Amino acid sequence: MHILLVNPRPPRAGTSFTRIRTLTLPSVAAELMPRARVTVVDEVVQALPAGPFDLVGISSDTPHAPRAYELADQLRARGQRVLLGGTHPTAVPDEAMAHADAVVVGEIEGLGDRLLDDLEAGALAGVYALPERPSLDALGVPPVDLLPSYSQRFQPYPVELTRGCRNACRFCFNKRIHGPGFRRRPLEPVVEALRARSERMVLCMDDNLMNDPEHLAAFAEAIEPLGLLWGGQSTLSVADDPELLRLLQASGFCWTFLGLESFTPGSLAAEAKAFNHTARYGEQLAALRKHGVMPFLGVMLGLDHDGPEVFAQTGRALEVLAPAACAFTMPVAYPGTPWHAEVEQQGRLLSCDLALYDGHHAVVEPLRMSTEQLVTGYHRLARSFYGWRPALRRLSRNLQPRRNTHRAWVAASFLAVTQGYRRYHRKIANA
Ligand code: SF4
Repeated sequence: MHILLVNPRPPRAGTSFTRIRTLTLPSVAAELMPRARVTVVDEVVQALPAGPFDLVGISSDTPHAPRAYELADQLRARGQRVLLGGTHPTAVPDEAMAHADAVVVGEIEGLGDRLLDDLEAGALAGVYALPERPSLDALGVPPVDLLPSYSQRFQPYPVELTRGCRNACRFCFNKRIHGPGFRRRPLEPVVEALRARSERMVLCMDDNLMNDPEHLAAFAEAIEPLGLLWGGQSTLSVADDPELLRLLQASGFCWTFLGLESFTPGSLAAEAKAFNHTARYGEQLAALRKHGVMPFLGVMLGLDHDGPEVFAQTGRALEVLAPAACAFTMPVAYPGTPWHAEVEQQGRLLSCDLALYDGHHAVVEPLRMSTEQLVTGYHRLARSFYGWRPALRRLSRNLQPRRNTHRAWVAASFLAVTQGYRRYHRKIANA
């Protein structure tokens, strides 16, 4: 059996900010490979091979769903069997079934044999799901080398320590695929793989590195002798544990993405994110910098408590915090979530075009400003934040701490990320 796995291209050409290897398709491949030959293709950088294949699997989130459906329809018109999976088909399997022979709901582990038995018997059909999300206790290391090499210079090796998240922020889509709570995976195979690989940069794909601080500390201790540089997504509580910060610094942990989301306590409470304390942002980022960790922030504009003043207020706060980078987004009510149903019922859903559900388009009508104010303010703030003059001021802040052990890396990655975001925001503003 030969199976093709596809990562569909983004809806508008050129709006892919950067390509990095992720674990999604390698994890699917690992589940199928004992019995099938698997080829992985990323449409952003590769053309689809001619085929035919015994099965084509396409994984997509919500903004990539229109392309996934288009591709699935084209392939099925040529007689090709198609399987859809990923966060969007998981959330709305009935919609996805209109474009596929079968849909995987949730994670793939534990479903491979049933899928392949049905495929061999010519009986692949319907929705495949486990009653609960699978245990990760026996999880191996996915075959990342099946993915294309996106860049010779920046090619971090992706790993995961946990799946899911202990928190439940209202806007977050991760629960759709991973279910409530989080699960740990065994660390030994990951550390073993890192010891054997040539990559010195590692990207931890976890939704929240602070799911289990003890598990994180054990990983940091295990990889300390390997001389790696690594980072991943966390919550601000990582800054409140000096001993953990010391272990992380010694292990080469040098950046973290933090979803601050807002400087308005009311908006944080409405998003079930009151564990972020606006008054403590400054001291928490200072603690990270002191330990050589460069903070990347996520900020959402147009939340239910945000009025037109939010743009100036956020700009001033970011000037003080001086993060290395900031991902600005507008709220997205993802189909299949309770919030989507709520917003739809309120008549606040501005578009059903899934390609616009990428955080860079207004798809939910704001409560305290007009949609036009939101879109204009969003682009203006992103443009001014990524101007070179404020960017260079932030660079000097991020290089300041004497204990920052990776100054060259900080400078190079800071400049690359700033340039990447500048280009990206120009593109999406004109798209
Ligand atoms: S902390 Fe992050 S990953 Fe966890 S629910 Fe909130 S937004 Fe999602």
